[in-house]
Amino acid sequence: MIRRPDNPDLSATIFEIERYATEDGPGIRSVVFFKGCNLRCRWCQNPESQSPRPQVMYHKQRCTACRRCVEVCPAEAVREIAPLGFITDPEKCVLCGACVDACFSGAREIVGERMPLDAIMDELRRDKAFYEQSGGGVTFSGGEPLLQAEAVHELARRCKAEGIHTAVETAGHLPWAGIAGLLPRLDLLYFDLKHIDSEAHRAYTGVPLDIILGNLRRASECFDNMIVRIPVVPGVNADAQTLERMFAFLAGKTRVKRVELLPFHRLGLAKYEGLGLSYAMAEVDNLGKEQCRPFAEIGGAMGLSVQVGAEGG
Ligand code: SF4
Ligand code: SF4
Repeated sequence: MIRRPDNPDLSATIFEIERYATEDGPGIRSVVFFKGCNLRCRWCQNPESQSPRPQVMYHKQRCTACRRCVEVCPAEAVREIAPLGFITDPEKCVLCGACVDACFSGAREIVGERMPLDAIMDELRRDKAFYEQSGGGVTFSGGEPLLQAEAVHELARRCKAEGIHTAVETAGHLPWAGIAGLLPRLDLLYFDLKHIDSEAHRAYTGVPLDIILGNLRRASECFDNMIVRIPVVPGVNADAQTLERMFAFLAGKTRVKRVELLPFHRLGLAKYEGLGLSYAMAEVDNLGKEQCRPFAEIGGAMGLSVQVGAEGG
């Protein structure tokens, strides 16, 4: 086999590499979170994943209101906005890092960085022994990782060449070619599905549904190890009627066998505030696993294997 040489210039914008993760695939894993997403789900728990650019994140609970960030910013991008605190205007910020360096209390950080693929692979290799002992590996998530398709394809190729179990999680609002070319390099594919009604999908995520459903169906036809993830969100899809329609599509129109229901959790609230964004779900109560079990039974009755919560692949 002719091996394509590694491209040392390739890089990706990521906002975290989480080590020792156990909820995004089998075993112990490293999860690479890519920055940038083409959906705007109202319940998104990682608002820092949405913009493709690095951003300044502010942590109000650490802030002493010394105002040094305002004083040192060369772009006049930091403003005190009550009751949020010292918020950065992303339109003005030039990401110089001066406010981060000036903040003695660690209340400011730049989230996201451009990393060469070689550096990402070095990071991933650190835990190879854990992957091997636990049956784990690496998961590429986001954001939408496939918006940086070339980087993900290349990382998956390198992982595969080193015998590392590789998974990707996608929301699927992409040209089919970006997904199809990746499948031979994957061991596991997580495919998110948020709603089954086109108008509702557009209202809650900002994008239409047809491309996603088409890609989901095609992926299920040519890739066996696939898990559909459904975030179960009060007021959006957390009702038997909507979930029954979603299960009926999966059971009747695709070859999907496994589904995970992920109960809504209001985890992202502080991050929205730290980025100066409003959170549409700030007043919505968390959903418990027990509340989702009756929904799982609906899917089970249609022949799907439905589990509540992300418990690995
Ligand atoms: S420099 Fe840090 S502690 Fe001081 S006002 Fe800005 S964020 Fe708060
Ligand atoms: S990173 Fe630089 S430009 Fe951006 S808010 Fe901080 S000091 Fe201002």
